[in-house]
Amino acid sequence: MKYNLSKFENLVQTFESLPTIGKKTAERLAYHIAISDPFLGKKLSFAIENAIKHVRKCTNCGFLCEDELCNICLDESRDNVILCIVQNPKDIFAIEESSSFNGKYFVLEELNNDNITALKNIVTSHNVQEVIFAITPSLANEAFILYIEDKLSNNNIKFTKIAQGVPTGVSLENVDLLSLAKSIEIRVKA
Ligand SMILES: [Zn+2]
Repeated sequence: MKYNLSKFENLVQTFESLPTIGKKTAERLAYHIAISDPFLGKKLSFAIENAIKHVRKCTNCGFLCEDELCNICLDESRDNVILCIVQNPKDIFAIEESSSFNGKYFVLEELNNDNITALKNIVTSHNVQEVIFAITPSLANEAFILYIEDKLSNNNIKFTKIAQGVPTGVSLENVDLLSLAKSIEIRVKA
């Protein structure tokens, strides 16, 4: 049956293209915004536009910010010599929420020469003494860790990784805060 509702269907399809949103939820959201609460719809569209315009990645560490550098990089009370490597900016939210870490971060989403050079520059300029890998345990990630250790091997650094409490293959944002805090506190040699 043709409903002649192309604009509504377009909204449904757009929602459906978001992660974790299935067709039923997409229809519910589209109905809510178009019919039940159009004011919320306007607010949402403004917030989205504003975020796209202003939210970016910190040029230093790769976390999210709305200026050139993020608040964590700018925070002088944090320990410069401990660097925590994560694979996704979202992992920083999880670790910060667990209040278990007071060093700096570096987001390494993929291994390429530019990223490795940026990492090396930070390690040297901050005189980093310890690199913590806050990375989900998996075989591929073990290789990832070894590769980075090798690249930084000239710098006389202690390498550690979060261990206990973080289950294999589960991303950090889905680990409960207590387990995450514990796993940072009792990190082991990488
Ligand atoms: Zn930063």
